[in-house]
Amino acid sequence: KRKPFVGGNWKCNGKLSAVKELLTAFKGAGADAKSVDVAIFAPTLHIPAAQECLAGDAAISLGVQNMSKTGEGAFTGEVSAGQVADAGIPYVLVGHSERRSLYGETDEDCAAKTKAALEKGLTVVFCIGEQLAERQSGKTTEVCEKQMKAVIPVVTDWAKMVIAYEPVWAIGTGVVATPLQAQDTQYQVRRVIRDECGSEIADSVRIIYGGSANEKNCKALGDLPDVDGFLVGGASLKPSFTEIITTAQ
Ligand code: 13P
Repeated sequence: KRKPFVGGNWKCNGKLSAVKELLTAFKGAGADAKSVDVAIFAPTLHIPAAQECLAGDAAISLGVQNMSKTGEGAFTGEVSAGQVADAGIPYVLVGHSERRSLYGETDEDCAAKTKAALEKGLTVVFCIGEQLAERQSGKTTEVCEKQMKAVIPVVTDWAKMVIAYEPVWAIGTGVVATPLQAQDTQYQVRRVIRDECGSEIADSVRIIYGGSANEKNCKALGDLPDVDGFLVGGASLKPSFTEIITTAQ
């Protein structure tokens, strides 16, 4: 079984004063860096405070939630991959459904961001997933396959890729995918990777689940053969996130 990966996506939540409190609680989980990778995707402005709080803690890493597809230059409001790397931040989320749906990010944008991130040595947590209408019309595999095929050609280092399957209808709704839905879809995502890149890569890449994952439902999902951890939104804003980490490891 692959080493589990647990991500906490704080989205645009919380004040600077909450960062230390939460991270102190997470450090208390005593996560073992040998048996789980943990990354907190904090608001970019909060990352220096988070770095200070986590100094010396090998088990919890940090990431940004978004990044520019361009390099440095006259791109007002953007943060480049090089700047993320230079700031000592190892992870970036690319293609989160909120970026795709609210900010119009296309498959091409997501591929360009992934390419830029990998060039600077960042690890990409690449998000895919279908909308409710797509699931209801039986298009889940097709949608995930299209999203994967848009990024696969730019992936130069699969050791620096984690795929997050996040069905859009499960994000922030309290409606978690059933174990059967998560396993079936993640099996298909791995099958796409196998078809395109071969078994060695397909067998080693982590595919994690996101969408209303919490400390209560994570055990049943984490036990599935093709679920290698979680990308957690709301439940990562509470001290009980530690229970997800300890369940996964
Ligand atoms: P929730 O866990 O709040 O459903 O959010 C999932 C998510 O979008 C993580 O990236």
